[in-house]
Amino acid sequence: MNVIRVALDVPVEKLFDYLAPDAATEDIGQRVLVPFGRKTAVGVIVEMSRSSEVPPERLKSALRVLRDAPPLGAEDLRLMRFAADYYRHPLGAVVMSTLPARLRRVVAPRRRQAKQGKGQPAAAPAAADAAPKLTPEQALAVAEICANLGAFRPILLLGITSSGKTEIYLHAIAAALAAGKQSLVLVPEIALTPQLEGLVERRFPDTPTVSLHSGLAESERLAHWRAARSGEARIVLGTRLAVFAPLPELGLIIVDEEQDSSFKQAEGFRYSARDLAVVRARQRGVPIVLGSATPALETYFNAVGGRYALLTLSSRIGAPAPRIHCIDTRNERLTDGLSQRLLTALRERMTSGEQALIFINRRGYAPVLACRSCGWVSGCHRCAAQLVLHLPERRLHCHHCGHVSPPPASCPDCGNADLAPVGHGTQRVEEALARHLPHARILRIDRDTTRRRGAWHGMRQRIQERDVDILVGTQILAKGHDFPHLNLVGVLNADSQLYSGDFRAAERLFALLSQVGGRAGRGDIQGEVLIQTEFPHHPLYAALRAQDYRAFADSALAERRQAGFPPFVYQALLRTEAPRLATAIEFLAEAARKGRKFDSGVTVYDPVPAALPRRAGRERAQLLVQSSSRSRLRDFLGAWHDALAQAGVTRARWALDVDPLDF
Ligand code: ADP
Ligand code: ZN
Ligand code: ZN
Repeated sequence: MNVIRVALDVPVEKLFDYLAPDAATEDIGQRVLVPFGRKTAVGVIVEMSRSSEVPPERLKSALRVLRDAPPLGAEDLRLMRFAADYYRHPLGAVVMSTLPARLRRVVAPRRRQAKQGKGQPAAAPAAADAAPKLTPEQALAVAEICANLGAFRPILLLGITSSGKTEIYLHAIAAALAAGKQSLVLVPEIALTPQLEGLVERRFPDTPTVSLHSGLAESERLAHWRAARSGEARIVLGTRLAVFAPLPELGLIIVDEEQDSSFKQAEGFRYSARDLAVVRARQRGVPIVLGSATPALETYFNAVGGRYALLTLSSRIGAPAPRIHCIDTRNERLTDGLSQRLLTALRERMTSGEQALIFINRRGYAPVLACRSCGWVSGCHRCAAQLVLHLPERRLHCHHCGHVSPPPASCPDCGNADLAPVGHGTQRVEEALARHLPHARILRIDRDTTRRRGAWHGMRQRIQERDVDILVGTQILAKGHDFPHLNLVGVLNADSQLYSGDFRAAERLFALLSQVGGRAGRGDIQGEVLIQTEFPHHPLYAALRAQDYRAFADSALAERRQAGFPPFVYQALLRTEAPRLATAIEFLAEAARKGRKFDSGVTVYDPVPAALPRRAGRERAQLLVQSSSRSRLRDFLGAWHDALAQAGVTRARWALDVDPLDF
């Protein structure tokens, strides 16, 4: 009997057995068409066997092994198995989620169509960009990475912004290419891929390079995936999903801005691409470079503890590091949220033809609309959140569930017609700047203005061509972009994140402000960063002014050790949603009782409502479990998860989040 065990995209943790007389061991990793219930489904063959536990009369036959695309390699499957096990997510769902959409569909992809994408490596441009001569620091780092090609070696590249990390990546890639190996480069955002892709293609014009991210058209995505799988693409750039790209000759992994929270998927299959990249490097015996100016404390802790190599770049290339100042706003009446000092600085930069960036991490016009006479605020009826006013569009928008409604003409509670926007978002700052600096060419860059495909490309061009004086933007702008004429960064409203309840808030704010500040002065002129704050003496701002990540990280780690937070413990969250809060809490209380029965060295806390206790009409609660031993936590989660799954039907939807970043 020839039995194939198939991974299907269904929410149960098992493989499905089918008879497949014509399948051979080479078909492991291959897609297969099978009957499933009353439908036909596409799955992936992950094992073969001579027997099955399914009684023969119930064992169905596979319809057809799909050999129109190459199979996943054994190493690719191995990573997926690890991920499914570690994050307690069904293997079938994991495997299928890594495939391009066209390969997940029952209708087979037509080859011709797949070839049309511009994923096929373009004709080579004339000459390659010459590599600059490395600084001694860079040379040392490159030598260390190259010395490790061919062996597993995690390396933290800790380099302040503009210290030339990208150049080190390019040299490492060159070495991997010379050794006949493929390189995988992960970046946190789609928006960052074109810039890097351009750099890579100019440096290696004869080397087939592809990108993999969710912004690609289906045909492109498939073509790029095929190029990675066949080994034709020697360099693969992508966002988190690219960590699963099939790469038969992988020799080097690079994760840029490794601290970025977008490497962690927030819903469904909640994996960390950064962490899986390290696992993949270990499985494949290749080095991995984790680059950042402000690494995650977990990563930094591994580096100072000697588990990762630590390479430091402490000098900037070009202009000296920007000067960072706090503007004390306690005793000033701000005009439209802007201080006089900031407005003056903006005027000066404009006069000298330089660009400036105003950073405010909130899109929309104002975070809430309120009634001055009775205190009514615009709340979402489906979420425990406020509706954000978007003014030019004239609508109230829930950023959590997507609910949209027109702003009421008068207060729904008291009838007062004088409703006022409270607080500032990017639209309001844009409007205020236009009023105060009537000649300024202002460009707002946030999720609303960059949503359209290709929008960001045009904006980048305008900035490059100096068609813009002032950028107003959210964290979209904080990351990695290189704007040579931008020399002033103003930061608004950072204080709101200083005293958040989340134990990672300070770490995030430090990283964010370092990144935003790093946008200033990347050309020849020294940049300046002005942070408006009511807490100018806060230690976080002091560390930021001194631009001393290590001082900040060492003290943050000491606090974490004392308080018993990661990286000194490992955590998982059991998240639930239910129509009623009581249902969710009851489910968690029962789960906690079950968990405490295991003698596991794992602490099971009590259920609590989630930070956002209601979303899209569902009540949310969570239960934290933690341990000082990662392997004990993993064993516990395996047993606990099975116990919960066996408990059967419940009105609460639940999911485990291993190594959660958000609480
Ligand atoms: P990071 O990634 O650390 O922020 P980049 O790699 O973008 O820094 O480098 C900043 C700038 O310095 C870039 O314009 C890059 O081309 C340039 N650069 C990097 N290394 C060198 C070097 N050795 N000599 C001259 N210029 C360099
Ligand atoms: Zn009112
Ligand atoms: Zn909502």
